[in-house]
Amino acid sequence: MLSISGSREELAAWLATEDEGRIQALLSAALSQKTALLGDSVHLRGLIELSNICNKNCLYCGIRSGNARVERYDLTDEQVLEAAGFAQKARYGSLVIQSGERRSGAFTRRITALVREIKRRTNNKLGITLSCGEQPLEVYREWFEAGAHRYLLRIESSNPDVYARLHPQDGSHGYEARLEALYRLKEAGYQTGTGVMIGLPHQTEYDLADDLLFFKHFDADMVGMGPYLEHADTPFYALRDSLWPQAKRLQMTLKMIALLRLMMKDINIAATTALQVLDAYGREKAVLAGANIIMPNMTLSAVRHNYQIYNNKPGIHDDAELSKTHLEQNLDRMGIRIGWDEWGDSQHFGSRKTKNPD
Ligand code: SAH
Ligand code: SF4
Repeated sequence: MLSISGSREELAAWLATEDEGRIQALLSAALSQKTALLGDSVHLRGLIELSNICNKNCLYCGIRSGNARVERYDLTDEQVLEAAGFAQKARYGSLVIQSGERRSGAFTRRITALVREIKRRTNNKLGITLSCGEQPLEVYREWFEAGAHRYLLRIESSNPDVYARLHPQDGSHGYEARLEALYRLKEAGYQTGTGVMIGLPHQTEYDLADDLLFFKHFDADMVGMGPYLEHADTPFYALRDSLWPQAKRLQMTLKMIALLRLMMKDINIAATTALQVLDAYGREKAVLAGANIIMPNMTLSAVRHNYQIYNNKPGIHDDAELSKTHLEQNLDRMGIRIGWDEWGDSQHFGSRKTKNPD
C-alpha cells in the first residue's frame, strides 16, 4: 500500500501534482486504508442549523454580523426537538447543532437545556455534536455534562498570517484565541473536531501541507475540510478572480482528505456539504477518498435559505425527508453503505484516552 512519510515537502508535492494516475493511486490507497480499519460504511449526523445570528464578522462568511442583507432567524426549541425526533426516526444515530457564535448566559442555558431534553426524549440514543464557536471552558463543560460529546471548531487555516487575513483585526478574531478554544474542548472531554477551508485567498499548497501537519500535531479526533466558496455579500467576494478554479478546489479537497486518511488512520473525516456545490456527487467522492462521515441537513426548509454561509448552497428548498432521500439514492448509486443507528465515534479518541487518561 502507498505510504506517506508526512514530510512537508512530500505533502506539498502530492498537493501540487496534476498527474491523474498518481492522484487515482492516492485516492484509492486512502479508501483501502479506511475500509481496512473502519469498515465500508459511512456514519451520519443530521444537521440542525439552529440560528444564523452571529456576533462575529469573518470576512468569508455569508452570515457574518456585518451582512445586513440576511434575514436573521432562531429556531424555536420545539423546532429543534422536532428535528431531533426526525433524526431518531430516520435512524441517523447522531445529530449536530450548529449556530452562529453567541456568548451569553441565555444562549449557554438554551443549548444546555436543548441537549438535555434531546437526550431525555431519545433515551440517550442519539449522539450529539455541537458547533457553536469559541466559548469559555465553563460553557464547554456545562454542555458536555448535559450530554454533548463531540464538538467541531475549525481552525480555518493553521497559518496565523492567512488566519489574520481571513478576519477583521478587531480584537475578537484572533488565531491564538481560536487555538486555545480548541485545547479547552479537549480539556472539557470532547471528541474534538477541527478543519480548514481549501482554496482560500492568500493560501498556497504549502499552507495546506501545514494544515495536515497541524491536525497531526493537535492530535484531532475528527476533521472536516471543505472548499472555500464565494458569497456575494462578503468582503472576500472582491477577491474572487484570484481564486483557484472550482474544479481545482474540488480536487484539492479530495487530495487533502486522502492524505489525511493515510496520515491519521483512525480519525473521523467528514465529507462536507460544500463539496456538493462543486459536484453533485462531491460528498460521495470524498467518501471514496477516505472520508467516513456525512451530515445530512435537517434544518426546516422555511429557514434554510437564510443559513447561506456561501452562495449556491445545495438543497435549500428541500426538507429533511427529501435531503435524506437524495443522500440515500446517491450513496446507493456509488455503492456506499450507511451505518444506521450507530454513533460512529472517532476510534482515535478511544485510543487517545487510553494512552493519556486524565
Ligand atoms: N460559527 C461557528 C459554526 C458555523 S460556521 C464557527 O464559525 O465555528 C461553520 C463553518 O463554515 C466555518 O468553520 C467555516 O469553515 C465554514 N464556512 C464559512 N463560510 C464559508 C465559505 N464562504 N465557504 C466555505 N466554508 C465556509
Ligand atoms: Fe459567524 Fe462562524 Fe460565519 Fe464566522 S464562520 S461569521 S463565526 S457563523
